[in-house]
Amino acid sequence: MTPLITLKGVNKYYGDYHALRDIDLEIGAGEFFSLLGPSGCGKTTLLRTIAGFEAVSDGVVTIGGRDMADVPANLRPTNMVFQSYAIFPHLSVAENVAFGLRKRADLNRDAKASMVAEALAMVGLEGYGKRAAHALSGGQRQRVALARALILKPKVLLLDEPLSALDKKMREQMQVELIKLQRHVGITFVLVTHDQEEALVMSDRIAVMFEGRIGQLADAETLYRRPQNRQVASFIGKMNFQSAQVHDGGVEVEGFGMVQLALDQMPEPVQPGPAVVGMRPETLGLLFDGEVTDKRILDGIVDEVVYYGDMTYYDVRISGSDKPLNIAMKNIMGRPVLEVGAPTRVVWDPRAMVCFR
Ligand code: ATP
Repeated sequence: MTPLITLKGVNKYYGDYHALRDIDLEIGAGEFFSLLGPSGCGKTTLLRTIAGFEAVSDGVVTIGGRDMADVPANLRPTNMVFQSYAIFPHLSVAENVAFGLRKRADLNRDAKASMVAEALAMVGLEGYGKRAAHALSGGQRQRVALARALILKPKVLLLDEPLSALDKKMREQMQVELIKLQRHVGITFVLVTHDQEEALVMSDRIAVMFEGRIGQLADAETLYRRPQNRQVASFIGKMNFQSAQVHDGGVEVEGFGMVQLALDQMPEPVQPGPAVVGMRPETLGLLFDGEVTDKRILDGIVDEVVYYGDMTYYDVRISGSDKPLNIAMKNIMGRPVLEVGAPTRVVWDPRAMVCFR
């Protein structure tokens, strides 16, 4: 990876409030990078320090090898797309997109018109130039905002929750379009989102932030399969957490008894004593009538059923455990959906268990 943006020892204070804490980060040229975390963790602040809308209290931000300390936002090779698209409803689509060129006195009308047409084509809005912006759908407005941000061909596009105003279906469609667009234009995208699914779907790499710090920085699969600690594990996807006791000869897991876990392969070192064991819902299973397994089985009772069409999520009570286990099952042909209160058998595999401090 060739780093385009680097942050070294970045801290940001708002008065006494420590919003960014010792951030070290490299974002690659052409990378689709996401900042993910709960509300208030500092992701927007981090994005704004890259954009130049916030000065850092301490530390260095460079873009393309150049220290940005004295470079104002409008002279940085970045452009930002906001959550509220800031589209002017009384202007046409083309006028909205051309707004991105307002400071370019060196361009004549024809040059501007061809740049607008090119930017509109980039976002799949060819021929929409004359339409009134107020008559567009949410998804189309978002594309106009993107075209306006891309028209000056910035090195970095900063996106602050750009899809959060769209309904679920539109959001999913725009996610795919944004990925395609990013690959097509090859510009570095830095996206802020609190939606973990959105980050997992779209990004080359994701920094998960908590309380002004980066909790883990990795690609989607690593974050999901090898979360570094409990905090990341519970923020990314669903996970069952069972209390446990680590002994020299194995790990005693609530409801599962003594289990042999490869403790030397856990994401963080665990010592003998109290711990927590995590299991993703899809690494557990239910054994239906007529099915066999060579894996381990526990008896349980169905406590809750949530049907999603393609999947069913069950909460299942097992003896010796205070809280039910959440288990994800694919709804394959011929497999019934169990009812609350039904006796069932839980299939589990120690290899899918992760032990955390
Ligand atoms: P959200 O998803 O809710 O936007 P976020 O992770 O983007 O959250 P930030 O907007 O970066 O969070 O804010 C981080 C913290 O800094 C918050 O506690 C916020 O209240 C505080 N903060 C942000 N901007 C300012 C400001 N201008 N003055 C004082 N405090 C601020």
